Amino acid sequence: MTITRRGFLGVTGMSALALAGKASVDALASVAGEHEKGEGAVRWAMVIDVDKCLGHAECTSCIKACHEVHNVPDFPDRAHEVKWIWKEPFDRAFPEQENDYAEESLMKRPVMVFCNHCDKPPCVRVCPTKATWKREDGVVMMDWHRCIGCRYCVAACPYGSRSFNWLDPRPNIKKLNPDFPTRTKGVVEKCTLCEERLAVGKKPACVEACEEKALIFGDLQDPKSEVLELVRTRSTLRRRSELGTDPQIYYLA
Ligand code: SF4
Repeated sequence: MTITRRGFLGVTGMSALALAGKASVDALASVAGEHEKGEGAVRWAMVIDVDKCLGHAECTSCIKACHEVHNVPDFPDRAHEVKWIWKEPFDRAFPEQENDYAEESLMKRPVMVFCNHCDKPPCVRVCPTKATWKREDGVVMMDWHRCIGCRYCVAACPYGSRSFNWLDPRPNIKKLNPDFPTRTKGVVEKCTLCEERLAVGKKPACVEACEEKALIFGDLQDPKSEVLELVRTRSTLRRRSELGTDPQIYYLA
């Protein structure tokens, strides 16, 4: 069964329960329980252990897993590229970290990047149709059906985290996942932190796919979470944090 954008948006939220059975009911109940605690409930975030990731610079497991599960097309021409997660040279991901003496090899190390699920997302502010919004748990969402393709969000995002479908993506999907919607020409897309997996108590696909455990995902509002422990006790970098977007993807420095 292929799910359309409209159909998918109709089944997210509470109707995800019907699709995923008891496991998802339990998972959602536990998330709801978290929210009942008050105090802002859940705040999803990710910590990236750059050293672990760099130990396997050729590895693209996270990218492959994400793009496969989300039907991200693979266009041969880079001008049409659509990406949810990709690698960026360190000096482009963190231009403020550059200095005149840093070794070129260090500055060119590939670092994994994607949407930062910013606490103050400029992309959300500029969208005229509310096709993108931030949930209470911090996930910056996309409603592909409401997107009119104006690309204001693409221009507003300082990280290049959004892609525009200049062409129909469907013929360029390598292996269709029938459980996830495809998009159409003229629509913007990006990482949604695997909100469809979070809804059934799973971690994002990239986190699960990483054999090095370089991606640590969790709830910053949970005092026992590993992400909170890392963010509290380790030195971390966030991309272009000087812009005031408050990114929620942290890189262990
Ligand atoms: Fe929006 Fe870009 Fe921040 Fe993602 S990284 S929330 S697309 S501004």
